[in-house]
Amino acid sequence: MTTQAKSHLFYQSRNRRPVLDRARGIYMWDVEGRRYIDGSSGAMVCNIGHSNPRVLEAMRRQMEKSTFGYRLHFETEPAERLAARTAMLAPEGLEKVFFVSGGSEAVESAIKLARQYAVAIGQAQRSKVISREPSYHGCTLGALALTGYAPLVAPFEPMMRPMPKIPAPRAYLDGLDPDSEATGHHYADMLEARILAEGPETVLAFLVEPVGGASTGALVPPAGYMRRIREICDRYGVLLIHDEVMSGGGRTGRFFAGEHFGADPDILVVSKGFAAGYAPLGAMIAHDRIVEPVLDGGGFLHGFTYAGNPLACAAGLAVLEEIETEQLSGNAAVVGELLKSRLEELAARYPIIGDVRGKGLLLAFELVADRGTMAPLPPELKAYDRLVELAYENGLIIYSRRTRGGYSGDHFLVCPPMITTPAQVEEIVAVLTLTLDQFVAEVAPHLTD
Ligand code: PMP
Repeated sequence: MTTQAKSHLFYQSRNRRPVLDRARGIYMWDVEGRRYIDGSSGAMVCNIGHSNPRVLEAMRRQMEKSTFGYRLHFETEPAERLAARTAMLAPEGLEKVFFVSGGSEAVESAIKLARQYAVAIGQAQRSKVISREPSYHGCTLGALALTGYAPLVAPFEPMMRPMPKIPAPRAYLDGLDPDSEATGHHYADMLEARILAEGPETVLAFLVEPVGGASTGALVPPAGYMRRIREICDRYGVLLIHDEVMSGGGRTGRFFAGEHFGADPDILVVSKGFAAGYAPLGAMIAHDRIVEPVLDGGGFLHGFTYAGNPLACAAGLAVLEEIETEQLSGNAAVVGELLKSRLEELAARYPIIGDVRGKGLLLAFELVADRGTMAPLPPELKAYDRLVELAYENGLIIYSRRTRGGYSGDHFLVCPPMITTPAQVEEIVAVLTLTLDQFVAEVAPHLTD
């Protein structure tokens, strides 16, 4: 089948892509033999690279034993073992692991657990979950209500309960110093103001990505932000939920990005890199203190058919094994530093790059019309689309928020798998340089004042 053949599949739009043939390590090939560097690990998913033989072997072994065991009928060994490993990796006290098949499911699970906990401890008036703008927490109606990005949310608003949002701490846009605690406190205190405005007794939880993903473009919180957020949540009895769907799994240099900031959540969700695309898998990891009252009170009223699927859990276990034995988080930290410094060199060369940010191999750069004011490029240029397209034609996959309408910055995630070598970083940067040359030549006539 080629891209031209009639297809019965549909996703967001009519845009069609070449047909994938095979993938190995950080490379992918289409059926016409064209090679692509997977510079975004899919959607920050394939963290350990494609077609890892040890993961494939572990999955094959599990497949020969069983591929499905319904949770009401059987416990399975891979699910038990993965839950135990995950609890070991999670912050102190987060010992209960609930498996799902993806990020939106994980977020839904976290907010429903939080709600049942509040009911179980006699605080049923708590039902509001505060999140940030911009943010992305999933596409199901509950997770979407927490997503701070109007173009995705607006058509569904009448079907959902609007949830309060506070601004994400984009210090670089507001001209504030991200390394100053005053900046971190300035943004974190917006949470306190919002809790007070809503009525603290009505606020259930605050949902935050410790290092941002597609919506903010690898936003690293300013100094002191996450600790202050923790203090504020504690002050008002608000649960703190970390959305590590994208940042978890080692990519930032630690297994969970929250570890960088010295403040633990009450509930944490992870997906994408957790089974690195080898199987649909995600997890909600919650503090015992939250889960026990819910189980005592009659049980968690929630659960997906595929929860704890043994094949997915076997893949997850093998991926964890790979991350640990190959020390891939450490590699992400080292290679990420190199890639970030190369992106900063590109920024020195191309004034159109207004900011480079991120941690480990969760990195992004942002294009602007004017670096001094951080004024965005004219939206009609659709830079978010065009640069990605040019890179794709040049054989490099990078990631942007490619959503029609609305604006939250032309930022591009450069997030290759954690197995990327320094030589492959140079390969990525060479294609990016070519792509930026082409893009700048194209848009130059539109940028003259
Ligand atoms: N939360 C975050 C931070 C994400 O990046 C995503 C996916 N981009 C989700 C939730 C939703 O995950 P999924 O697409 O697997 O439902």
